[in-house]
Amino acid sequence: MDKEQIWEASLARLELSLSKANFATWFENTFIKDIENDEQVTLGVPHAFAKAWLKKKYHKEILDSLQEVTEGKIKKIVYEVDLNIHKNEEKPKEKEETLEKEKTEININQTRYKDSLPMGEFALNEKYTFENFIVGKTNELAYAAAKCVATYPGEKYNPLFLYGDVGIGKTHLSQAIGNEINKRFKGEKVLYITCEKFVNDYIEAIQAGKMKGFRDKYRSYDILLIDDIQFMAGKDRTQEEFFNTFNEYYQKNKQIVITSDRPPQALSAFQERLTSRLESGMIADISIPDLETRVAIVESKLNQKGYKFKPEVIKFIATMIQKSVRELEGILNKIIAQYELRMIEPTIDNIKTTIFALKESRKKHANFGIRDIIKSVSSFYNITDEELKGKSRKRELVVPRQISMYLLREELDCSFPNIGAELGGRDHTTAMHSYQKIRTQMLENNKIQKDVELIREKLYL
Ligand code: ADP
Ligand code: MG
Repeated sequence: MDKEQIWEASLARLELSLSKANFATWFENTFIKDIENDEQVTLGVPHAFAKAWLKKKYHKEILDSLQEVTEGKIKKIVYEVDLNIHKNEEKPKEKEETLEKEKTEININQTRYKDSLPMGEFALNEKYTFENFIVGKTNELAYAAAKCVATYPGEKYNPLFLYGDVGIGKTHLSQAIGNEINKRFKGEKVLYITCEKFVNDYIEAIQAGKMKGFRDKYRSYDILLIDDIQFMAGKDRTQEEFFNTFNEYYQKNKQIVITSDRPPQALSAFQERLTSRLESGMIADISIPDLETRVAIVESKLNQKGYKFKPEVIKFIATMIQKSVRELEGILNKIIAQYELRMIEPTIDNIKTTIFALKESRKKHANFGIRDIIKSVSSFYNITDEELKGKSRKRELVVPRQISMYLLREELDCSFPNIGAELGGRDHTTAMHSYQKIRTQMLENNKIQKDVELIREKLYL
């Protein structure tokens, strides 16, 4: 067997034991450069990051598969960055020239649409960097992929799709990509935008008859970071427009990064062709960091602010807050504020009250009312308030109805008769039953749990 055949066969084996995304991410553009004395393989890898990753994570698997293929001959692997393959992939010059031309054209057009040029809410926040993102088991793949995209925008994983629950670092990573690209490639224009803003912008543009301005604006960037794509659910015309924008970027090898609260195939009320586009690149999930990583996050945040807490206090905070890093940060800030105010060093005992009190006061200081909850639930599920309150027993209405009853009780402490009355004049026993039902499902049903958390999160924004 020659080098190529050996690597081909080894890759075939590796592919079996790895997820599709992982395999594509780390083994693309790898090759055997050299085999010395029949026992040492030099593996060419496309960039330093892949080198570190393969060495750290997959060394054993790679060696095993090489040994299987060569009947035990290969004893050692040396990893070497080799850009050979990479160079062949460079964009043809002609294409770049047309791109340049289009860019200037767009810039001219753009001035007409100045009133809604990205500013303020579009802007990247410099506090989100790779350096201050703590990496643990539950976010390392997303982190690695994000780093890679920031180093090779448009060339590696396009689109990059990051998904996970609320408050676990999706926006942080996506913005870190933007900040890093701004730092590395001065000429690249980065657009960070929330999906919500994209939807509103689109609707405004249609109403004002300014679609051309809208298109020119969105297409004049080199990098598109779009946050919380799930917000486009059920919005067919916006999806249509986004699909076109997406294709524009994609065809020109411009990087697209998308975040979402769920994987592409789970985005309901999305057009099939759009989800398959979203799936076509690299997909990485993030979930809540494990305890050890949460401890590291607390330490890092304290460090940044110049505070030092006792290890057992840090561990206690990290143990108590298990749902989201955002909540973890929030509580930590409260504890710091208390500490400064009273000048008493935090101990497990005195922060216990803060943590419990905070969870309680979250309820009391809610600045939303019954109507807001009903509105949030119906808009989340793309139904009308009337349908939510109505008589229909269709499942797609019953579940949202029960969820709104649950939230009215949990968040506003409404009485059951009151809840029944608010939701279409139902009996208090119905309200009670619905509340109990969702309460149980919050422990058992992942989807319901996630939906409720998202709606809740929006209410507190
Ligand atoms: P999401 O977009 O997933 O809802 P964010 O990216 O807004 O969550 O993260 C919430 C907060 O938690 C942010 O302030 C972010 O900086 C912080 N955070 C999340 N994950 C990490 C991490 N791994 N290391 C440091 N900070 C983190
Ligand atoms: Mg976010």
